[in-house]
Amino acid sequence: MDLKYDVVIVGAGAAGSICASEAGGRGRRVRLIDHSKKFGEKIRISGGGRCNFTNIHCGPENFISSNPHFCKSALTQFASKHFTDILDTAEIPYHEKHSGQLFCDNSSRDILNLLLQKITENKVELSLGESVTKIEKTNDRYRIYTDIACYSCTSLVIATGGLSIPKIGATKFGHEIALQFGHSLVSTKPGLVPLTFDTALLKHCADLSGIAVEAIVSCEGYSFSGGLLFTHRGLSGPSVLQVSSYWQSNKPVTINLAPLRSDSQKLNLHNLSKSNKLVKNILGQLIPQRLATSICAQMNLDKKLGEATETLIGSLDERVCAWTICPTGTEGYRTAEVTVGGVDTANLSSKTMESSIHQGLYFIGEVIDVTGHLGGHNFQWAWSSGWVAGQNA
Ligand SMILES: Cc1cc2nc3c(=O)[nH]c(=O)nc-3n(C[C@H](O)[C@H](O)[C@H](O)COP(=O)(O)OP(=O)(O)OC[C@H]3O[C@@H](n4cnc5c(N)ncnc54)[C@H](O)[C@@H]3O)c2cc1C
Repeated sequence: MDLKYDVVIVGAGAAGSICASEAGGRGRRVRLIDHSKKFGEKIRISGGGRCNFTNIHCGPENFISSNPHFCKSALTQFASKHFTDILDTAEIPYHEKHSGQLFCDNSSRDILNLLLQKITENKVELSLGESVTKIEKTNDRYRIYTDIACYSCTSLVIATGGLSIPKIGATKFGHEIALQFGHSLVSTKPGLVPLTFDTALLKHCADLSGIAVEAIVSCEGYSFSGGLLFTHRGLSGPSVLQVSSYWQSNKPVTINLAPLRSDSQKLNLHNLSKSNKLVKNILGQLIPQRLATSICAQMNLDKKLGEATETLIGSLDERVCAWTICPTGTEGYRTAEVTVGGVDTANLSSKTMESSIHQGLYFIGEVIDVTGHLGGHNFQWAWSSGWVAGQNA
């Protein structure tokens, strides 16, 4: 005996929850299922516990997808402003950190509680700790088998997210369902993830772990400015995370470690100080001293500026302003914030997120091949795509 619903949503993360509450608000009988015992873990841990829930400048240019136009309709139908209107009505305090990134003043629990409240108000039936084992379609109904029940529905929404952080519930289930129902996948890889070095480069940077600088990091024609952090495995920090979503294996990454102090990739050291000063101390006025000392030691520049040849100073310019490295990899899905790639948008409606192959089948959120930049764009995509599916499912 199956339990009959209008809408079943698999995955109670950001996208699944807003979709459920919108569909429930339209009077649809909705069941929202998640195999995790805890509700919205990713929301809870996001943004250092304060959830960077949107970005006021969010637009299509902040997304990576095989079809860069796909995200436009949903982002217009339910924009950043629509989400902040909901928070304003609920009197949830938030603030802009920088570059349009909005964070909760208190904690991400404010968002979790709001989502739970809306789900309850709209009579959504929520199952946590319930695993979906199989999905079938017979005639016009989808049958969802779990470890404890069987549900059937006319609208099935897959909101199982990406592959990052498996220990809090990420699975490839959504990708498998997409393949089962005739959709194709755009190949996946970890995004917004620290880059790692080989042993030789790590040895080179051994004493730099923990140093943070403002940098411009470039790869494959994309450049991002912001913080860069040396780690004991390689590099992290916002500018590195952003570029990681574009980085391909074996491709170089170029880094300007002194973007605010360099002029056309030159440090103009001679203009800065008297030539009887040590190069490392002059460089230490532009970048952290520990980094300056390490670079000078590696380049045999442990000498006074007046003693250094023009060629050596030219090499130093390049080492600081256009440091080119070949990362060996990334820290992978264990620490990645997102998954690049996913369900191909080719057979999805950009207006409703419905499959053009199977009526009543929807994909929303990170499971789709739409990946946001760092800064609240991924949650905005989850809200926008979830909201539009919630109006149609
Ligand atoms: C550490 C971290 C910090 C982040 N910080 C930010 C941030 O500050 N701002 C931002 O915009 N983005 C951030 N992100 C990205 C953002 O969290 C995701 O893009 C967003 O949560 C995606 O929403 P979603 O609903 O598509 O998927 P998710 O939120 O991942 O939800 C998917 C749900 O599906 C469930 N599920 C998976 N498989 C199954 C299955 N087989 N059966 C049943 N349920 C299943 C999972 O348990 C999960 O609850 C962060 C990500 C991480 C990992």
